[in-house]
Amino acid sequence: MSKIKELKKIEKKVKICKKCNLYKTRKNTVFGDGSFKAKILFIGEAPGKNEDLKGYPFVGRAGKILDELLNSIDLKRKEIYITNILKCRPTNNRNPLKKEIDICSKFLDKQIDIIAPEIIAPLGNFACSFIFEKFGLKYDKISQIHGKMFNTESDFGKIKIIPLFHPAVATYNPNKIDILIKDFKQLKKII
Ligand code: URA
Repeated sequence: MSKIKELKKIEKKVKICKKCNLYKTRKNTVFGDGSFKAKILFIGEAPGKNEDLKGYPFVGRAGKILDELLNSIDLKRKEIYITNILKCRPTNNRNPLKKEIDICSKFLDKQIDIIAPEIIAPLGNFACSFIFEKFGLKYDKISQIHGKMFNTESDFGKIKIIPLFHPAVATYNPNKIDILIKDFKQLKKII
């Protein structure tokens, strides 16, 4: 089966998923967006209000910052793939629960296997700790490891992980934008 067809098949399952309570309050599921051929996969935490309304990841305030960061290293959204750990919005944007991550990350696992990226850039603490654990890496505080490159192995070959702060931090801590810009420059070097 082609990558597109495989992804569509999983997306259909996500659309009707009722495995946790978040389906009760969602307007839309948010599966992911970008190129199935992407060499780089960005992973955020969960849809917010705008993403829930539109059905696409990173289309609100954090998305605007992410777009600026991508622009700063000449990367286009259509050249990457972007998704979240959770495919439904947590009520009032609360943190994802461990139970929700355990259930919903099965979809993310499949997306990673299908896309088979060379680089994964998890955004924020939840995505970073999930990806580090998944690939058998020891997780330290994000403040210690952001912007550094970690080499590891996956079922589909070698993979590089570059943990990044979540773009939303720049909305409540403007100092962080400089760190994000610097870390995206690092990412550019790796690409
Ligand atoms: N924050 C995320 O982690 N993901 C989105 O899609 C939007 C905001």
